Amino acid sequence: MKQLKDYVRNIPDFPKKGIQFKDITTVLQDPAGLKLAVTSLQKELVDLDFDLVVAPESRGFIFGVPIAFNTNTGFVPVRKVGKLPYETIQETYDLEYGSATIEIHKDAIQKGQRVVIVDDLLATGGTMQAIINLVEKLGGEVVKICFLIELQDLKGRELLKNYDISSSIVY
Ligand code: AMP
Repeated sequence: MKQLKDYVRNIPDFPKKGIQFKDITTVLQDPAGLKLAVTSLQKELVDLDFDLVVAPESRGFIFGVPIAFNTNTGFVPVRKVGKLPYETIQETYDLEYGSATIEIHKDAIQKGQRVVIVDDLLATGGTMQAIINLVEKLGGEVVKICFLIELQDLKGRELLKNYDISSSIVY
């Protein structure tokens, strides 16, 4: 039987030379792959008490919404700057070249709400640290972070060592 890992497609040198891009479209397009992915992310949340799923655009949305739906919790989007229509708070973080800014609606999380963050892939952890900062600035408590894929060599787990992290596939 095919394992979750078998559905991930590796694209060498995308978007630039030296990057091994983990393409999850091949997971999503197969009903068995999609089911395996959502199920394996969600398995980490059994018996966990939480109020909200937070996820970043765009691949985080793909997995975050079905998990929120299945666990009867709400979903909160984190977006690139300029996309959210209401008042926001922002975080700017460093990328390999330059920086990025993401934001969240300032009324999206109430103080003390328990938050699970979902994303497709953990590399350096910089993106996730910025998302955590947004959640915590609003008074949310990050109780779990779920990734579909973790690139171990990039040591994102060390950066996020104070949080409970799970990943379904490790490279
Ligand atoms: P980082 O902030 O370094 O942990 O990067 C995380 C984000 O960049 C994830 O949300 C991924 O969507 C994307 N990303 C980084 N490296 C890769 C890769 N090798 N394959 C696919 N996506 C990647």
